[in-house]
Amino acid sequence: MTTLIGKTAVVTGAASGIGKEIAMTLAAQGAAVGIADLNFAGAQAVADQIEKLGGKAMGVAMDVTSEEAVNQGIDKVAAEFGPIDILVSNAGIQIVSPIETYAFSDWKKMQAIHVDGAFLTTKAALKHMYKDDRGGVVIYMGSVHSHEASLLKCAYVAAKHALLGLARVLAKEGAQKNVRSHVVCPGFVRTPLIDQQIPQQAAKLGISEEEVVNRVMLGRTVDGTFTTVDDVAQTVLFLCTFPTAALTGQSFIVSHGWYMQ
Ligand code: NAD
Repeated sequence: MTTLIGKTAVVTGAASGIGKEIAMTLAAQGAAVGIADLNFAGAQAVADQIEKLGGKAMGVAMDVTSEEAVNQGIDKVAAEFGPIDILVSNAGIQIVSPIETYAFSDWKKMQAIHVDGAFLTTKAALKHMYKDDRGGVVIYMGSVHSHEASLLKCAYVAAKHALLGLARVLAKEGAQKNVRSHVVCPGFVRTPLIDQQIPQQAAKLGISEEEVVNRVMLGRTVDGTFTTVDDVAQTVLFLCTFPTAALTGQSFIVSHGWYMQ
């Protein structure tokens, strides 16, 4: 528990799934972590769990699509734990449907959470990272769908591709201020986001739930296994602790070979 002592991190969407594991992993290395989520009770429960294990954390109510909520939430974490060193922009949802029936309201909701949320949290965190060129690391939760397309996922694929652009601009703009950025791109991870998708995809694609799992989600992996929350969290930890800008503006695919660059 040493590598991140004295660092302050904010992880969005950290009440559940991948974000929760990232928050716990960063806290286990000594970071003080703001657990930001729409679900405040869930965020506080994760913060309590971290504190019980001897770490430092606080729950923060945050809708990443609201500029006011994002600014207030990030500043609250900085006021409690010190200026933000690490931002993991992870909050996300999934809505599946073919393009011709994809509701415009759902499209806009998807872009708002994934793309607007990434932009707003970045802008709020940079205020702290740029001060006196102290620097920091920004990690966006992309997906194999930052690189590859799948049926039914037009809004998700578009949003996850957009994060590559944002991360690359930040890598260039942030370099003078010691800020690095990356996109971490998981394959399929068994979280609530995936579990709710299995019956929906089966119904929309006209195949069984077993086929969705074995063919759509795991068929292209090298070992027939789901990516785990720990696979993703360890990658984030590595990128947060890597010491130089030799690694910046990159995307790291963590998918058991589902997608190879
Ligand atoms: P999850 O459903 O377990 O967790 C998502 C969290 O985001 C929830 O706690 C939810 O309350 C929160 N959230 C949703 N909307 C929000 C908002 N507007 N403001 C703040 N918080 C909000 O899902 P997960 O699988 O852990 O997904 C986390 C991220 O990983 C997402 O960006 C997702 O696209 C990405 N991802 C997931 C997988 C996968 O297979 N599970 C694969 C690739 C990428």
